[in-house]
Amino acid sequence: MCVTCGCGDDNGVRVATPGHAHDHQSGHPHPHAHHDHGATETIVLGERVLARNDLLAAGTRSRLAARGIDVVNLMSSPGSGKTSLLERTISEAGDLRTICVVEGDQETTADAERIARAGARAVQVNTGAGCHLDADMVDRALATLDPPDGSLLFVENVGNLVCPALFDIGETRKVVVISVTEGDDKPLKYPHMFAVADLVVVNKTDLLPYVDFDLGALEKAARSLNPRVRVMPLSVRDGSNLDHWYAWLADLARPTRTGTQEKVGRA
Ligand code: MG
Repeated sequence: MCVTCGCGDDNGVRVATPGHAHDHQSGHPHPHAHHDHGATETIVLGERVLARNDLLAAGTRSRLAARGIDVVNLMSSPGSGKTSLLERTISEAGDLRTICVVEGDQETTADAERIARAGARAVQVNTGAGCHLDADMVDRALATLDPPDGSLLFVENVGNLVCPALFDIGETRKVVVISVTEGDDKPLKYPHMFAVADLVVVNKTDLLPYVDFDLGALEKAARSLNPRVRVMPLSVRDGSNLDHWYAWLADLARPTRTGTQEKVGRA
């Protein structure tokens, strides 16, 4: 249950592997990690409170860090280009490091299927009435996804700029994607999201000549909430500045640069 917007707590959450037509309902979480990607799992998950969420997320983060897995929580409005960014990243950087993806949407397995077609292992979480992923959903998705040691895990959160900001899912970094068609005033309207971000990706810069979007105003608004946040304009469509994105991802794997507590212990 979302403690902020009051979305229902009786919604069924389903975790599914793409490419398979049949679902089966289960009243219980899947008890074991498994490697059979030929079956679709349907799991009904219960309510979790925020404190329990944070505890669970901390456990996920340290468990994955110990295995050298970096987790990027991608958040945005619907339609900003998160899935397209992932498709292109898999195709252009996927041979440097194994990429796995947890896809979050209220319904459909469309995005997990797109990721699978792009060549990465993916699992879909459908949140039903829910407006965000939480640590429990991600934890259960990981039991099915089973990312290998040393891999780069993206979690594409449910598209909205409100609730996902409030839920720790065990990520290494939080990335907000905004596209130039959305307007440069979004940081001021949705401050929580931009306040917690490690990186703001500004997508669809190829459309800048056709829209009223002031990159400088966007950067100023984002930094008014989060003075050290990095703002990274790029275009998934024409590829401009994607080298900055790939360099940022590569830095995640460098302990001296990331400075995460988890990695200090492994260095
Ligand atoms: Mg998507």
